Amino acid sequence: MISIDRPTADLGDVRVTNRAVVLRHVRRHAPCSRADVAAHTGLNKATVSSLVGELIEHGLLRETGLTENRVGRPATMLVLDGARYVGLGLRVGADELVAVAAGLDGDPVLTWRRAFPAATAGPEETVKALAALTRRAVTRIGADRTVLGLTVAVPGLVNPDGDVPVAPTLGWRGVPLAASVRRALRDPGFPVAVDTEANLAVLAEQRHGPYAGTADLVHLTGGPVIGAGLISGGRLLRGGRGFAGDVGHLPLAADGPPCVCGRRGCLTALLGVDAVIGRLLPDAGPVTDHLPEIERIQALARAGDEPARTGLTEIGRLLGQAVSVLAGLLDPDVVVVGGHLAALAPWLLPAAHAELAARAPVPPGVRLEASTLGSAAGALGGATAALATVEAGRLPAV
Ligand SMILES: [Zn+2]
Repeated sequence: MISIDRPTADLGDVRVTNRAVVLRHVRRHAPCSRADVAAHTGLNKATVSSLVGELIEHGLLRETGLTENRVGRPATMLVLDGARYVGLGLRVGADELVAVAAGLDGDPVLTWRRAFPAATAGPEETVKALAALTRRAVTRIGADRTVLGLTVAVPGLVNPDGDVPVAPTLGWRGVPLAASVRRALRDPGFPVAVDTEANLAVLAEQRHGPYAGTADLVHLTGGPVIGAGLISGGRLLRGGRGFAGDVGHLPLAADGPPCVCGRRGCLTALLGVDAVIGRLLPDAGPVTDHLPEIERIQALARAGDEPARTGLTEIGRLLGQAVSVLAGLLDPDVVVVGGHLAALAPWLLPAAHAELAARAPVPPGVRLEASTLGSAAGALGGATAALATVEAGRLPAV
């Protein structure tokens, strides 16, 4: 899970909090000087100098050597240092595993995809595959960098212990995933956590790409089941039991198509990848590999195929309705759609935007956009989450 630092009045904790403040400022404003950090954080210059020295020594910040010509002495500029420590993120998809290792600066050290049918393979084989991929990644990352943690992204519910009570996309129930991966790795020397794909994807969006730094942000995952990652006031919303954002069975149309849950007209039954393919490609039958079918839909839409365009407009309208519900609840600045919803965004979003505009009272100004992070979003978020303790100002214990 993403750990959240809770500072107390203890002096050591004050230093931890201040380190986090410095790192956060450099993340948002790099390259910047020590004087910039002091001026914008309210910390005094001597404190900033001492904190920056410590962060450089521990390989979390580095000096670029760039200078700025201002009145007075030129200043040495600071940026985040991604060279020494990385977080590792793995994503379990319906038909692939994705691995991303990234440093504090967000630059991916590696991005791997491996075709893997997690749904038919079952949890035990998936755990073995995840452990093998982790070992390979650690070897590739090399001895000159240290892996600070691993977070696995799963399309399903995840409780605070890293167990997966249910993941319908994978057909899993009651899988103690974090404990199983930890055991399979035989004391890897770094923490292993599990979180929902939606939570990790929204974390990736908040740190990397065009919506980085957005304090109120929603990521709607594409795929067989629709989920939502929710960031409000800069914080991930988890809810009482960790299941916030499980919007896949939000009722949208009482007389809609049947859903896997036994009801009708759920978000998943209308917008899930199987629902979209079933509606636009009635000849496709049951699909295990979604990408070629989504590409067929894209080709039809590009060619101006009337039934495909009409169908996409109708699906876009439903997407707009779903987003208006989320917008009314959370008042986000940006709602980002991923997966097949991003791939079909050029044809879905115009109708969705029109629906959003027509629906009052939607808070004005909510933007609905397509993710640019692709199928790596959950894994990149996992790598980011694995660096959370360092970002919170704790120095690496290595
Ligand atoms: Zn349902």
